[in-house]
Amino acid sequence: TKSILAVTMNPSVDISYPLETLQLNSVNRVTEVTKTAGGKGLNVARVLHQLHSPVIASGILGGTIGQFIEKKLDETKIKHNFMPINQESRNCIAILHDDMQQTEILETGPLLDEQDEANFLIHFENSLDNISVVTISGSLPKGLSTELYTKMIEIASIREIPVVLDSSGKPLKVSLSGRHKPFLIKPNQEEIAQLIEKPIHDLVELQEVLTINSLFKGVEWIVISLGADGALVKHNEEFFRLTIPKIDVVNPVGSGDSTVAGLASAIAAGTDDVEVMKTGMTTGMLNTMEKQTGFINNELFNEYYQKISLKKLN
Ligand code: ATP
Repeated sequence: TKSILAVTMNPSVDISYPLETLQLNSVNRVTEVTKTAGGKGLNVARVLHQLHSPVIASGILGGTIGQFIEKKLDETKIKHNFMPINQESRNCIAILHDDMQQTEILETGPLLDEQDEANFLIHFENSLDNISVVTISGSLPKGLSTELYTKMIEIASIREIPVVLDSSGKPLKVSLSGRHKPFLIKPNQEEIAQLIEKPIHDLVELQEVLTINSLFKGVEWIVISLGADGALVKHNEEFFRLTIPKIDVVNPVGSGDSTVAGLASAIAAGTDDVEVMKTGMTTGMLNTMEKQTGFINNELFNEYYQKISLKKLN
């Protein structure tokens, strides 16, 4: 069977430091440290693994932080195939303090160059044997061109492998201007507004933008996730509105990544259109019910899948 290739170009070790109070200009000692393999594509890979969808995590890794990420993936039996570099991957620190406040310190990560980019594209092309779907998530490390995702989409498209792209800003815009389009994009409302550089007030306006703006032409699936409100989906020329039940949210971070995992797994399995959309909504919802980011309880899948309603719009 084929696998899904889940790409993260700038992965991290996510460190969580829970503190009663954060003392500035002083020493803070922390006992309950957690360190996990982080980065949007790694969330996607983890959820795919929980869905029992064969997955290989890929991207760029380096140094002892890179080794730590690989060790974490090995421990959870997630296959990986990263391109090694001679620099350290990054740490991202979240300090949870003073009654639910969260202070984050995010390293930029390695500084790469044209040679790294050329090497990665070869590495990527060589990773595509027996791949059903490619997912690309998140931002690019410094030094790589904004065209990198466009080039990856082109390489995959020539081999007729669909690409699910979950990015924002310049890399997303450039990818939508290329000759080969991503098969699926999953922006949220805010990312769409940023993309077209004007605010969107309601779903009618959103539908209009997705129909008229040439950026979206030729993108088979556009899934606009709306948090607790579900999603608006454009599939070829048709629009759908998905609504989801009210649930007790524990931690919504990574829901977008979990949605990407659900969508990709259904596409890879060749299910029908309704199942693609409902699977993406279900995995997004299930993620919000767990403490851990990019994590679902697959045993609840069918129960919540049944609760999603879908309406075709005119
Ligand atoms: P993130 O950046 O945190 O990964 P996102 O903005 O890309 O998230 P959202 O639209 O917040 O993505 O969430 C994706 C999907 O997860 C939603 O379409 C929905 O199915 C589910 N979801 C998210 N938040 C909630 C919520 N509060 N209640 C129920 N379901 C939710």
